[in-house]
Amino acid sequence: MSKVGIITGAGSGLGQATAVQLAEQGVNIAVVDIDEEGGRETVEKVNKAGAEAIFVKADVAKLEEVKNYVNETVNQWGQIDYFFNNAGISGSGGYFLDTDPEEIEKIVQINLMGALYGVRYVAEVMIENGGGAIVNTSSSAGVIGQDSVVTYSATKHGIVGLTKSMVAEYAKDGLRVNAIAPGPTETPMVKSYFEANPKMKESAEKGIPQQRLGTPEEVAELVTFLLTSKADYINGEVVRIDGGFTNTK
Ligand code: NAD
Repeated sequence: MSKVGIITGAGSGLGQATAVQLAEQGVNIAVVDIDEEGGRETVEKVNKAGAEAIFVKADVAKLEEVKNYVNETVNQWGQIDYFFNNAGISGSGGYFLDTDPEEIEKIVQINLMGALYGVRYVAEVMIENGGGAIVNTSSSAGVIGQDSVVTYSATKHGIVGLTKSMVAEYAKDGLRVNAIAPGPTETPMVKSYFEANPKMKESAEKGIPQQRLGTPEEVAELVTFLLTSKADYINGEVVRIDGGFTNTK
């Protein structure tokens, strides 16, 4: 029987690239995103790669919408084997004391509450069915401190805590939970930002020992590996994929 995966933020970037790679391995995908156009595009790509897909529009910050994407997936296929808990936003990038409380709340609500809600309801289904694998998206900013990203960094450090502590409670029930910590990766969002600010791109690349940004496909390879049974004894790990960036800080 085919495996089933849920991917949040699957309408773009890391989520979309991972949807395609899992589909190439025959995994059926519930494409979850707030953006309908991106979500539909991913469904087409998954179908082209030979797997089934459904699109479920959801804002991961809203509990009822999280419960709904879990229910829709179970109604469609009766199981959830893999969960790429990935939707997130970066914020406007200013210093913390210049940041509006509304922006702080929005980033926490999407990046941290959205991830917690997702694990809360997906893991329940997985454990009922004997287990499953989850990959949560953290960031370089989730493993080191950096300026201009205080709230984002707080949420991404929170993802690390979520990952490790879930393992302490539920590994015995067949659950694997890992996190990825990507450095700057050329997703559409980052690409257009750097196209508008070429000097920023240059300075970002200089700060990375491998002197280039990562690609969504490279990150998708890692997520696919961590989700599937090839990584069966890897649990509670936070895997950095950043060209050496955080290890040289
Ligand atoms: P992206 O903007 O290309 O994709 C993010 C997707 O999430 C979009 O399709 C967007 O519509 C969706 N989304 C945003 N808010 C949502 C919400 N409330 N509910 C549902 N969907 C929502 O960005 P990406 O670079 O692929 O980012 C994916 C994840 O990777 C994020 O958690 C981000 O913080 C993290 N990350 C990215 C980088 C990078 O350099 N690109 C580095 C480290 C971590």
